[in-house]
Amino acid sequence: MNLVLMGLPGAGKGTQAERIVAAYNLPHISTGDMFRAAMANETALGLKAKSYMDQGNLVPDEVTNGIVKERLDEADTANGFLLDGFPRTLDQAKALDEMLKELGKKLDAVIDIHVPEEILVDRLTGRFMCRNCGATYHREFNPPKVEGTCDKCGAHEFYQREDDKPETVKNRLAVNIKSSEPILNYYKEEGLLQSIDGNREIDAVFADVQKIIE
Ligand SMILES: [Zn+2]
Repeated sequence: MNLVLMGLPGAGKGTQAERIVAAYNLPHISTGDMFRAAMANETALGLKAKSYMDQGNLVPDEVTNGIVKERLDEADTANGFLLDGFPRTLDQAKALDEMLKELGKKLDAVIDIHVPEEILVDRLTGRFMCRNCGATYHREFNPPKVEGTCDKCGAHEFYQREDDKPETVKNRLAVNIKSSEPILNYYKEEGLLQSIDGNREIDAVFADVQKIIE
């Protein structure tokens, strides 16, 4: 089963990815891990990617695609894989089709965990930290036991990281929506897209994922 998993930040993609790889024994191929491995192993492409990153530049598609292709050619993908974090652009989606063809493989499904934008904003802006000890909380999912008091150190002052503030979150989501829409449309046209309502309990979402896979 060759799968691509998609979902905006906060949609619960990471949790579902963990469930899928555990249940179906598929290698979890995330771009972050792939880059780290290629750089740690100092492969030709890994070194190239590193040189771009060290200068604060985006890694060009040809390098990223090369790293993905090398990974998809490894022996552990013989019975399938779960691709996560790639493709990020329509060009990469088309390149993925090409490289899979060259490797004699094809995608079976693209699973999109869909959560409405306003709910994602709610989830993503809920995080705050204790100013004294750095303990992390979430307004909804993990509030302090006593409101306004840190469980760990008893302090009363909290703050939000820049990344968790509403304006930053909304910008990040807008960028992600803009880049993922053409990819979702592309896979829809190819008949591969399976959209799942991600605004439910983790188990209910995973049950739908299983239906698609099985
Ligand atoms: Zn604290």
